[in-house]
Amino acid sequence: MKKKALYPGSFDPITNGHLDIIKRSSEIFDEVTLAIFDNPDKQPLFSFDERKELIMKVIDADNITIDSFNGLLVDYAEKHSFQTIIRGLRAVSDFDYEFQLALTNRRLGKHVDTIFFMTDEKYSYLSSSIVKQVCRFGGDISSFVPPLVEKYLKEKIT
Ligand code: ADP
Repeated sequence: MKKKALYPGSFDPITNGHLDIIKRSSEIFDEVTLAIFDNPDKQPLFSFDERKELIMKVIDADNITIDSFNGLLVDYAEKHSFQTIIRGLRAVSDFDYEFQLALTNRRLGKHVDTIFFMTDEKYSYLSSSIVKQVCRFGGDISSFVPPLVEKYLKEKIT
């Protein structure tokens, strides 16, 4: 049976930190589905379609699929028969939230477990919010995101 995993996130926009997690997880799992989440606590800069388009254009592995969802992650996971959720961990500050989320998801969806990938140290400080902020103030974001994402961000923000 194919080993498949679900990598949910806002990806607003996708960064080199996300891409690193995607590459590493796609080497372990037969299929990885990126699910773009409409987080009601966050006001996204890019629409679903824009985020999806960017992800499609910057990913080159062929065992990755892209989808989007709203509502409960475990409902999506169970509906599509995912038993594994992938999340990334950066600093200790991520831990509290991710721990809470993983335990809540397991409580809500008994067959769903979360696997964490530790960030690559060179991306440990990198988040979509930081990239947007640096871009907004004219800083160089070329080492944080692929060139296409940089182009879209500059068009959107500046
Ligand atoms: P969310 O709004 O669900 O946190 P994000 O797009 O910000 O969505 O992040 C999706 C996942 O990717 C989260 O588990 C986050 O911790 C992880 N992630 C984001 N940036 C990095 C990075 N630089 N290194 C490792 N993991 C990361």
